[in-house]
Amino acid sequence: MTEDVGGIAMPKRTCAGCREVAEQETLVRLAQASDGGVVVDCLRKMPGRGAWVHPRPGCVRAAVRGGGLGRAFRSSVKAEPDALVQKLGEEIARVWEEAARRWERGGRVAGPLARRVAALEAHVAEFNRGSAR
Ligand SMILES: [Zn+2]
Repeated sequence: MTEDVGGIAMPKRTCAGCREVAEQETLVRLAQASDGGVVVDCLRKMPGRGAWVHPRPGCVRAAVRGGGLGRAFRSSVKAEPDALVQKLGEEIARVWEEAARRWERGGRVAGPLARRVAALEAHVAEFNRGSAR
């Protein structure tokens, strides 16, 4: 699924929680560990099937409870909604801090990486807004 936006094809994915179709950049990838647990894959490097969710506590809980994760992974999911929400928050913050540090050290952040950093910044804000609800 792609849509041409200003000459750049932006891949789209469906949020496993709210079922909204969104630009992949705005979603976080979840992957299934070999033990059936769920890992947060901010950098999108984990092998296997992935699921995409908005970085919002509500979407994460809905993805577990509503079966969206199970459908994406095509297997049963061992995850506790609140624990997964906490894991997501920690992982987003960790990756964002690392990106910010690299930026401060004068690392060149451009192109796709700049978009990823911008997306992560939005994830932090989105997650914090969601947690406050
Ligand atoms: Zn969502």
